Amino acid sequence: MERRLGVMGGTFDPIHHGHLLTAEEAAVQFGLDEVVFVPTGQPWMKEERDVSSPEHRYLMTVIATASNPRFSVSRLEVDREGPTYTVDTLRELKDQHGGNVDLFFVTGADAVLEIFQWKDPDEILELAHFIAATRPGYDLARFEAEEPTRHSNVSVMNIPALAISSTDIRERVREGRPIRYLVPEGVESYIEKAGLYR
Ligand code: NAP
Repeated sequence: MERRLGVMGGTFDPIHHGHLLTAEEAAVQFGLDEVVFVPTGQPWMKEERDVSSPEHRYLMTVIATASNPRFSVSRLEVDREGPTYTVDTLRELKDQHGGNVDLFFVTGADAVLEIFQWKDPDEILELAHFIAATRPGYDLARFEAEEPTRHSNVSVMNIPALAISSTDIRERVREGRPIRYLVPEGVESYIEKAGLYR
């Protein structure tokens, strides 16, 4: 039987419990053998804000996932030169497994809605099944009205814990408000030690 590999794509600036629950829920719902978290390299669509260095985001992801035997973290995008394209990552992961793998790309629904502006969208949708994770109250009608869901290769997954957001966490740190219980303890310590988001 082919290995079922979840690929959790995100900026993870920082990674939080909403992401971890999303990955766990995807693993259960889609019977995944493993979920590999892939923090992005330098995001090319995010020039409007400073994104923490790939190395900081990679290390926080390692800390957050260390205790789960089914989770791993990949340096593929962190180490790749130039802009991060999901199509390159999916191709490389497929090659690494000699083609004997079913890929499930998990990310936020807002990101998936823009999939037709990504590089090589048709190939992407052939390489992997897409799982779009949403927050409670997310306008699913908007999702249904858009192109991706007409493609049979996209599923939507509702994750109440995604009320937690990286943007809110960064704001909290900047304003000196607590982030305890929103991120794993080790990630909270890392943010403090590295002086992120101040
Ligand atoms: P984003 O626009 O920063 O995030 C969109 C929304 O999705 C945010 O609400 C975000 O919440 C949430 N989100 C992001 N990753 C998530 C995850 N793994 N699980 C659950 N929710 C998640 O999106 P992004 O981080 O830049 O990109 C997401 C993925 O799409 C990355 O792997 C990226 O490489 C890929 N992408 C590829 C292309 C391309 O190939 N050309 C273009 C765009 C995006 P938080 O802020 O709380 O995470």
